Amino acid sequence: IASENVVLNVADVHKTFGGLHALSDIDLQIEEGKTHAIIGPNGAGKSTLLNVVVGRLAPTRGAVVFDGQVLTGKQPHEINQIGVARVFQTPEIFPDLPVLQNVMAPAFAKRDGSFTLNFLSSLADEKEIREEAEHMLEDVGLIHQKDMNAGSLSRGDKRRMELAMCLMQHPKLLLLDEPTAGMSRHDTNTTIELLRKIKERGMTKVIIEHDMHVVFSLADKISVLAGGRIIAEGTPDEVRNNPKVQEAYLGG
Ligand code: ADP
Ligand code: MG
Repeated sequence: IASENVVLNVADVHKTFGGLHALSDIDLQIEEGKTHAIIGPNGAGKSTLLNVVVGRLAPTRGAVVFDGQVLTGKQPHEINQIGVARVFQTPEIFPDLPVLQNVMAPAFAKRDGSFTLNFLSSLADEKEIREEAEHMLEDVGLIHQKDMNAGSLSRGDKRRMELAMCLMQHPKLLLLDEPTAGMSRHDTNTTIELLRKIKERGMTKVIIEHDMHVVFSLADKISVLAGGRIIAEGTPDEVRNNPKVQEAYLGG
């Protein structure tokens, strides 16, 4: 791996909860523009790792560096401003507002530095943001639902809307924690297609996923976590054929 292509570097990260070693000796390099999957059994530490990257949890030891900036010690909103966005955990949804306005909101937030309802109504005629939001809704297949209240969307559609909201922030790094969890096969396939489209745009992605079909369809590289440690790493084929992985995860 040419080091100049590494955009996210997780260096010697440990995280303990009391006596529990949720993460140990985590070293991870993510290359720019790639889709990197993190897989592993329940309780392996996947979500903890993502929480450390986005600043929701402080590591017990080690550091996270993104795009030349040390993220460790920064607040989640600062890390977000640097260009790291997490999908499908977006708490700021306005269920009583139309889908289109929900998708426009993050663009206002990025511009104005806050995420409140006040300017939403007054800026309903912000042509540029509206056009981009409509474009985003077309991309995620929700353009026909743009006038529906966000709260009345189906679960799969809601997640697509959340992805559109994330993309409105133009993140450099997109983190996805089990984006297809609880989705029907049809919604899962639509989401895979959508994530492929994003890949073509060159955005770097880290995806945590249980569904092997999703992982093998999307990932350039896979890291396998078990018991808080990275036990294997490689291309989908390398990981698929690694006996350690089959034992710890795929076969288990
Ligand atoms: P995964 O996402 O791979 O299923 P998690 O990262 O959620 O795993 O959890 C890893 C381990 O850390 C688990 O044993 C879990 O119970 C524990 N854990 C996660 N978050 C906390 C927390 N806030 N406090 C205590 N233990 C936690
Ligand atoms: Mg998890």
